[in-house]
Amino acid sequence: MMEELMGFEDQYLARYYTKRRIVIVRGSMQYVWDSNGNKYLDAHTGFGVAFLGHRNPRVVEAIKEQLDKILTVPLTFYNDARASFIREFMRIVPNTYGKVFLQNSGTEAVEVALKIARKISKRAEFLAFMNSFHGRTLGALSVTGNEKYRRAFEPLPYRVRFAPFNAVDQVDKLVTEDLAAVIVEPVQGEGGVNPARPEFLRALRQVTSERNVLLIFDEVQTGFGRTGYYWAFQGYGVEPDIFTAGKSIAGGLPIGVTVVRREFGDVFEPGEHGSTFAGNPLVMAAARAGVEVLISENVPERVRYMGEKLLRELSDELSGLKPVLRVKGMGFMLGVELKKRADPYLDPLIGMGLLASVAGGTTIRLLPPYCITDDDVGLIIQSLRKSLVE
Ligand SMILES: *Cc1c(COP(=O)(O)O)cnc(C)c1O
Repeated sequence: MMEELMGFEDQYLARYYTKRRIVIVRGSMQYVWDSNGNKYLDAHTGFGVAFLGHRNPRVVEAIKEQLDKILTVPLTFYNDARASFIREFMRIVPNTYGKVFLQNSGTEAVEVALKIARKISKRAEFLAFMNSFHGRTLGALSVTGNEKYRRAFEPLPYRVRFAPFNAVDQVDKLVTEDLAAVIVEPVQGEGGVNPARPEFLRALRQVTSERNVLLIFDEVQTGFGRTGYYWAFQGYGVEPDIFTAGKSIAGGLPIGVTVVRREFGDVFEPGEHGSTFAGNPLVMAAARAGVEVLISENVPERVRYMGEKLLRELSDELSGLKPVLRVKGMGFMLGVELKKRADPYLDPLIGMGLLASVAGGTTIRLLPPYCITDDDVGLIIQSLRKSLVE
């Protein structure tokens, strides 16, 4: 029965992901179940989307309430669900920022950030970093520093220079006055879970300010509590001019948000930007509940505390093992970097009841939900240890 259903995906759904042969049918907070009734701890969370857990009760309740009201209202009208989300969202955004742009995915949030930078600066060139990931549309792909993702689609629309990530001593030379913006992830996600060095982000901030170049932080993966702060930039004490968010905000529904400094104002004239689905009431209701969970349950603080503990235990238990190069990360964005490809370890981990993902080819990436317990930490450590000892 399930084999037959998998067959439809295999036969007709265009394939561009390496697929694991389990059918996930249900989720509840940090756990998911497959069609055979097997339970898994989810440290994959759909590349970080289910950070608030699967079917977080407050998110589900908000969605159910909205289902009985209305599902679509364009940005040409006001909507109560949307206004309530904006009100709550601004509670977790520092005062420096004054306007948000709503989109339907992280990639789109990046596209908007690039458009904003172009319009404000009137320049067209960007500086981005090697091993960065900013999305798959042509603009976002232009600033993505991964040959494998880009090669088939070149030439890409923006002129982009790529610099080594964390190379503090090269910042002064690379940030030139002809740039529209510099775009960077505070912790590189897809590129291998690489936290920026604080002095690297500080140097970028200082030099971009001096030369009147905009600084964009892509917080689609790092934002919304994931690194132990509402926004990773708060952990670093460096404020960008523009930042993006997405993934976990709406508790599993599609969303992207771009946030800009107060003094930039609205940026676009009517006609210069738009989106049919943006600000969709169902997504807005879910996202409003998401922000409420983040604030009322002190999620960043919990993640900071548990993340440090998990990082310490991963280091203690795994660092000495033969295939392990290093353990790294920030908050609940963690990686075990190996001396070889990480992909062959995913299926054995699934067999032990743990879902994880790969980043940068050689890193086992853990993106657990905020609600994992000490027992769950134990399962993560034990299954990684077992799979890496062989
Ligand atoms: C996932 C991700 C994106 C793309 O988001 P989508 O929702 O897949 O479009 C962009 N930037 C970063 C840093 C990401 O991790």
